[in-house]
Amino acid sequence: MSKIRIGIVGYGNLGRGVELAVMQNPDMELVAVFTRRNPSTIQVSNDSVGVYLVEDIKDFQDKIDVMILCGGSAKDLPEQTPEISQWFHTIDSFDTHALIPEFFEKVDKTAKMSDKVSIISVGWDPGLFSLNRLLGEVVLPVGNTYTFWGDGLSQGHSDAVRRIVGVKNAVQYTLPVQEAVDRVRNGEQPELSTREKHKRECFVVLEEGASRKEVEQQIITMPNYFADYDTTVHFISEEELEKNHSGMPHGGFVIRSGVSGNQDRQLMEFSLKLESNPNFTSSVLVAFARAAYRLGQLGQSGAKTVYDIPFGLLSPKSAAQLRAELL
Ligand code: NDP
Repeated sequence: MSKIRIGIVGYGNLGRGVELAVMQNPDMELVAVFTRRNPSTIQVSNDSVGVYLVEDIKDFQDKIDVMILCGGSAKDLPEQTPEISQWFHTIDSFDTHALIPEFFEKVDKTAKMSDKVSIISVGWDPGLFSLNRLLGEVVLPVGNTYTFWGDGLSQGHSDAVRRIVGVKNAVQYTLPVQEAVDRVRNGEQPELSTREKHKRECFVVLEEGASRKEVEQQIITMPNYFADYDTTVHFISEEELEKNHSGMPHGGFVIRSGVSGNQDRQLMEFSLKLESNPNFTSSVLVAFARAAYRLGQLGQSGAKTVYDIPFGLLSPKSAAQLRAELL
């Protein structure tokens, strides 16, 4: 059987992760990587994979089945997904939750015009967590859903701390508040404020001569990022940051706490503990690329989200195999 031919657009953390994830899926092959930077400056792991300028992507219409878009949600994907879905089935990890409906409409138009399938907002949140929020609601319509994130490194919050004058380098972790998690797991269904659900922890390397007190004050009072949370700031050396904080762990859990039948308390929980957020997200993108390809073969087109994808299409196994092995 011929392999599903994959292209990667954007070679950052996710791009590198998709390259590795494709290698774990024998029914797929990576054909090319596309970038906005000079292709000769991009070193991919597999020498036989070509790197090209994204402007040349149209020339690959008969060589690539699915493009996995690995650009950033803030600036890249709002432009790249509608454009590239004119020519290829696409997968992306657009994660600005509030803008997903608008993004969907835009992509739906171009993908329908070109008879392509574009699965948007794939990953773990949005993505696998979204699926579990839905499952919780339909199985236990009387109840509450809770999403906790962490322990995990937040790229956006780390960047915000790094922009403070006097900060040489920094990382920020989001952590669920254990007491809140315990209450939810206990079936209490509490109303929780932002501060009660998550706390933040920063590890900061100071510039020479910078004041700890001033930097700490700027961090913990920063609106939108830290002011609504209990935040702890640790000052550490550059070596310690390099040694202990250079990974990109993340994770979290979705809990549905509800009642059924005779007011019996029921709890559903889905959790992730990830050593590498981008590599896990990339693995999810690759599984959904298979589904996009298959939906295309079935004659479907337009934008889709994880809610529109039959689970069986994510697997390389046939429906008969799945019935025999996993049901
Ligand atoms: P990166 O910042 O690593 O990469 C984004 C883009 O920036 C790349 O596609 C690349 O494009 C460009 N780039 C990468 N490295 C460099 C560099 N050294 N110099 C200049 N440009 C560079 O982002 P991530 O891969 O970590 O994340 C991408 C998006 O994934 C995030 O914005 C986030 O929204 C989303 N995400 C979604 C998740 C989910 O669960 N749904 C989970 C995790 C992330 P090019 O090659 O064209 O220059």
